[in-house]
Amino acid sequence: MAHSGEVRRIALDRIARLMEFARRHAVERPELAREAGNLVLRICGKARIRLPKTYRRLICRKCGTPFYIPGSFRVRVRSGRSTHIVITCVTCGYIKRIPAVREKLARAKG
Ligand SMILES: [Zn+2]
Repeated sequence: MAHSGEVRRIALDRIARLMEFARRHAVERPELAREAGNLVLRICGKARIRLPKTYRRLICRKCGTPFYIPGSFRVRVRSGRSTHIVITCVTCGYIKRIPAVREKLARAKG
């Protein structure tokens, strides 16, 4: 049994590769991208790590759909006392709210 630090390192490495794979295939082979996304969630569960911050907005944490897939999510900006971005996964309906500052807003809109 590997040391837990090593397990974590290997898991993070695999997650990075899978996310890159999902990004590359999202348009032409979305089903492959979804499989990769599902694996990412499974790896997180197995290694007992949280999804790295970099990827948290790029994948549905409930169903594993990578948001690299066109049309896989909807983004709305709700403004009020605290402006935030609402990301809805089209596949499972999971809703994620992200507090917005201007830079983040610009990035989310792409
Ligand atoms: Zn989902």
